[in-house]
Amino acid sequence: MFNILSIGLFVTIIMNVKAYPSIFSGESVENEVPSYDFPFVSRSQWSARQPNQTLPLKTPVPYVVIHHSYIPAACHTRETCCKAMRSMQNFHMDGHQWWDIGYHFGVSSDGTVYEGRGWSTLGAHALHFNSVSIGICLIGDWRVSLPPADQIKATKSLIAAGVELGYISPQYKLVGHRQVRATECPGDALYENIKTWTHYSAFPSSVKDLIHVKELPESFREELIRNRTKSESLPLA
Ligand SMILES: [Zn+2]
Repeated sequence: MFNILSIGLFVTIIMNVKAYPSIFSGESVENEVPSYDFPFVSRSQWSARQPNQTLPLKTPVPYVVIHHSYIPAACHTRETCCKAMRSMQNFHMDGHQWWDIGYHFGVSSDGTVYEGRGWSTLGAHALHFNSVSIGICLIGDWRVSLPPADQIKATKSLIAAGVELGYISPQYKLVGHRQVRATECPGDALYENIKTWTHYSAFPSSVKDLIHVKELPESFREELIRNRTKSESLPLA
C-alpha cells in the first residue's frame, strides 16, 4: 500500500513539474505565484485593496502598452514602491472610480515587478485599448530622463514571461500609451527608448489610427468614427 501511494505521489509530482513551463522553478508547485527571473511583489505583499469588481481579459493579448506613472515619482525600495502602488490604486479607485489600480503591473527602478491587476484581468490603463492589451507602468516621471537599466530590463523580462506563460501573443506589438490616446505618457525619454525594443510597432501612431486596428471590435470602431471629432484632454499618465 505504501509503495503504491509513493509511486502515485512520484508520478503526480513529475506530471506537475512537466506541466509547468520552464519559467517555473518546479520547486514550489503548490504556490500560485510563478517563480520569475526578477523580484516579484504580489498584491497581498504591497497590501492592495480588494477590487470592487473584475472582468476577465481575453488572452493571449496582441498588444503591450507601456506607461509611466508621472506621479508618484521613481521608487527604489520595497517600502517606497509598495507605497507608490497603494497611492496609484487609491487614486484610480477613489479619484477615477475605477474598480482597481488600472495597470496590470508596475515596475520599479530597482528592477522589481509589482502585481497590479495581473495577467488575466481586464485593465483600465488605455482608453479604447484595454480589451486587447496588457498595461505596464514604469513607476516614475520619464519625460526627460530614462528609467535605470534595471527597470527596463525587468520590464522586458516581464513581457517575455507573459509570452512564455501564454498571456501575451508571441507576435505581440509593443506601443506607448500616446499611440492609442492623446497623452504625453510614457514620457518623451522613455518613448524614444521603447522604439528600440523588439516588437515595438509604429502602428497605431495615434488615436486616429484606432479605427484601423483589426483586433478592436467592429462596433467599437464604428463608435470611434462617430466620436472622432470629440476632443480629448491631455492626461499625463
Ligand atoms: Zn499611460
